[in-house]
Amino acid sequence: MSGVNDIRSTFLDYFKKNGHEIVPSSPLVPRNDPTLMFTNAGMVQFKNVFTGLEKRPYATATTSQKCVRAGGKHNDLDNVGYTARHLTFFEMLGNFSFGDYFKENAIELAWKLVTEGFDLPKHRLLVTVYSEDEEAAALWKKIAGFSDDKIIRIPTSDNFWQMGDTGPCGPCSEIFIDQGENVWGGPPGSPEEDGDRFLEFWNLVFMQFEQTEPGVRNPLPRPSIDTGMGLERMACILQGVQSVFDTDLFRTLTGTIEDTIGVKAEGSASHRVIADHLRSSAFLIADGVLPSNEGRGYVLRRIMRRAMRHAQLLGAKEPLMYKLLPTLVQEMGRAYPELVRAEALISETLKLEEGRFRKTLERGLSLLSDATADLDKGDMLDGETAFKLYDTYGFPLDLTQDALRAREIGVDISGFTDAMERQKAEARSHWAGSGEKATEIVWFELKEKHGATEFLGYDTESAEGVVQ
Ligand code: ATP
Ligand code: MG
Ligand code: MG
Ligand code: MG
Repeated sequence: MSGVNDIRSTFLDYFKKNGHEIVPSSPLVPRNDPTLMFTNAGMVQFKNVFTGLEKRPYATATTSQKCVRAGGKHNDLDNVGYTARHLTFFEMLGNFSFGDYFKENAIELAWKLVTEGFDLPKHRLLVTVYSEDEEAAALWKKIAGFSDDKIIRIPTSDNFWQMGDTGPCGPCSEIFIDQGENVWGGPPGSPEEDGDRFLEFWNLVFMQFEQTEPGVRNPLPRPSIDTGMGLERMACILQGVQSVFDTDLFRTLTGTIEDTIGVKAEGSASHRVIADHLRSSAFLIADGVLPSNEGRGYVLRRIMRRAMRHAQLLGAKEPLMYKLLPTLVQEMGRAYPELVRAEALISETLKLEEGRFRKTLERGLSLLSDATADLDKGDMLDGETAFKLYDTYGFPLDLTQDALRAREIGVDISGFTDAMERQKAEARSHWAGSGEKATEIVWFELKEKHGATEFLGYDTESAEGVVQ
């Protein structure tokens, strides 16, 4: 009962029994939504239903939604391979109420599924609520019988969801499991919360206000529910492992990597990055994204090149990604027939992109290693070199950063931008009209990643992107 296919059907069947319509996943490229880079949550396909712009023949629904979080507001690209719980591609299981049931039912439904359907031990579970949401705290006490110490009140935006600057919004409540004292980490809201001990696996959003302008919130006449449970995280819990990369599907993928290049996966971030990036690349291509130098295609290219750098790091002597694809299709093709349909295209695209990039990758990496030979932990690579790697060797900035991460060397982002600006000015003076394109791409990339162009050091979270 603990493979992903069983978990998915347990979830969907449960909500179907409880009157929900099973709705298929929407594509990773959102329809009619240029503000969003990729579908990053189950509610995306229902945005207009929540706001009342669109009517559906059902008032409650359940889905297993393909999600990519590698650009825009939710960007987990830098986390992948380094945390136990983040993937760039994952499946989000969800149940939705469009003005039908609300908070009490949502908590009841979730609690019953978690403790009966999935049979998770109550004593290891705990929840967060938004600090102003007394109602949710009281409901968790009543329904789950939780004592106060199992209901953590969070005052930050982590527990307050907003669709945008205006529109529906409301508090949320996240369900966590304690993976045990032998795993490092502290409860949500504590300084050690980024450890792996307490794993968030389900988020319940209570859409109960409409924000008309920043700070002005009016109660919605018919509040709604939006929830999201990470399928891979549930698999991790049910399989008794502490990392999504130790679940059966990822073990199969990393096993194929081991067999193909003959390097063991034990504790290797590279195997994890490659397995994850293979999934996101394959699913993006299946949904019509192709590597390019702008927009969504550039995010795909970044993901692919990053995986290729890790393949190189493991000593792969020839293109690797396309050789792993049959395993992925075998594992996931039944649930996602689009993978099977697009297999030839995905394979060709991976092979071509990796074949092309390998030569410059090698040269770029040797330039990078020369340029950083004298640098130590805490130092920064100059912006000029980072720009040269970008411009001449096709290294996306995040690839350079990722390559230096293990040595704790940063990149001078403002120096990088200056070099870019200089090139832009020069190109203009030589030939009006040229050079614009490259600049747009970099701005897109930089703004998305940093919001500002200032390098803030390793401990500071990147500012939120401008894409969403
Ligand atoms: P986290 O705090 O761990 O980054 P989140 O609060 O950003 O997660 P939500 O936006 O609440 O995540 O998404 C709902 C659920 O989707 C999460 O509870 C989790 O189970 C799953 N999820 C979110 N991001 C990822 C990811 N990058 N990889 C795998 N599962 C994810
Ligand atoms: Mg997150
Ligand atoms: Mg969270
Ligand atoms: Mg959450």
